[in-house]
Amino acid sequence: MLCVKNRAFFTRHLVLLLVCVFAIGLYSHKGYGQSSNRTSLTKVVIDAGHGGKDPGAKGKNALEKDVTLAVALKLGKLISENHSDVKVVYTRDSDVFIPLDVRSSIANKSNANLFISIHANSNRSTVPYGAETYVMGLHKSADNFDVAATENSAIIMEDNYNSKYEGFNPKSVESYIIFSMMQSKFLDQSLFFAQLVQNQLTNVASRADRGVKQAGFLVLWKTAMPSVLVELGFISNSKDEQYMLTETGQNELAEGIYRSFRTYKANYEMKNYVELPPRESASPKKDSTTAFVARNAVSETSLVAKRDSIEKLPVVFRVQIAGSKGVPLTKSQKRSLGEDAEEFLVNGVYKYCIGSFNNLTEANVYLKKVKRTHRDAFVVAFEGGSLITIKEALLKM
Ligand SMILES: [Zn+2]
Repeated sequence: MLCVKNRAFFTRHLVLLLVCVFAIGLYSHKGYGQSSNRTSLTKVVIDAGHGGKDPGAKGKNALEKDVTLAVALKLGKLISENHSDVKVVYTRDSDVFIPLDVRSSIANKSNANLFISIHANSNRSTVPYGAETYVMGLHKSADNFDVAATENSAIIMEDNYNSKYEGFNPKSVESYIIFSMMQSKFLDQSLFFAQLVQNQLTNVASRADRGVKQAGFLVLWKTAMPSVLVELGFISNSKDEQYMLTETGQNELAEGIYRSFRTYKANYEMKNYVELPPRESASPKKDSTTAFVARNAVSETSLVAKRDSIEKLPVVFRVQIAGSKGVPLTKSQKRSLGEDAEEFLVNGVYKYCIGSFNNLTEANVYLKKVKRTHRDAFVVAFEGGSLITIKEALLKM
């Protein structure tokens, strides 16, 4: 546990905090992190961890820097091939050393909408395995702190790291308090993307799901956009290492992150953000569509009113299996979702949810089953019938 021992400590950190907040304000003022068209996700930065003289974690046969680069390039290729409107920026596309602060500065200067840092985990024990995705924040466990401290220790290979990172000590817990605040304005979006990544790495790449976590990573510190750090697996675990070394493993890992990117982008742009069954008519006439909307027009209040069971519970987690902007699904499309699917209208988007749980763990267990038939499903949270973020739900519990 952390203790503030004296006033000088507190004052010093308060001043640092104000400097940090001011710095973030400057970034925002310059428009960093905002695309020219706010409704489009047009630029993504892919950050392959380590490189050059910094090999990252070492397995029996694999070096982290090689695995991260391979997956980063495959991910970038998938995005470029499938989204001509998205520019992919790599912090490195070869085996070179890039300081951590240069990585975030590349992201900010490129005015990107999303930052994805790719790493592989390591542990003194060979037992731990599986994927976990981090967002910037104060660690809640010693394990999370260790992961961040290990990744951050790369700065020791940089020149003048002490002055560049304002005396930051990768092994000092206190060093993390201030800078965990820096990413807070993007926290909800980062958490949302991180959860999508975990869902897809579990689904497409069959990785054990170690969950979404928070810790203080220097590489995420100053990125002025939603940012995550993905730990693909444990290079210290022989099965994970072997998987990450194979072409198939690297392809699946890239595919998993790509799918989460695709869902995130569609959601960001408020389109139909899950794969829907084809509509009854491929191109319905405008008049008939309008008539359909009018016939099925339902207010958000009336939908909420139907949810007696939800209103009895302060917070519930459900699994969203489909969504449609502006227009509800047709009857046959709804039938294809199953009779348990319930419709909600939230900010003009029709959401179709199944299951109802009062804790996230049970919802995630259910999600795994649902994904066999609805691959892009994800968990959402409601409070008294209103949609809230997963983070808000967890804080309320
Ligand atoms: Zn790493």
